[in-house]
Amino acid sequence: MSSTDTSLTPVCSRAGCRDGAHWRVEWRNPKIHNADRVKVWLACDEHREFLHDYLATRQFPVAVVPLVAADQAEGG
Ligand SMILES: [Zn+2]
Repeated sequence: MSSTDTSLTPVCSRAGCRDGAHWRVEWRNPKIHNADRVKVWLACDEHREFLHDYLATRQFPVAVVPLVAADQAEGG
């Protein structure tokens, strides 16, 4: 019944990149975001480091975690 399930594949957030995303880049801007606010970019293998460095250079708290489909169980 849920309409949140789509066939769309997560795509890298890097401008111009259409590769499938395998990573979540979680970050926030301490100047405009509260401590409990987390922004999420998606990254392919190639741009994971690029996006992390982009944020780290700006002194933003950033964490890269594997992108897993939370509601997708294997086998089924
Ligand atoms: Zn990419």
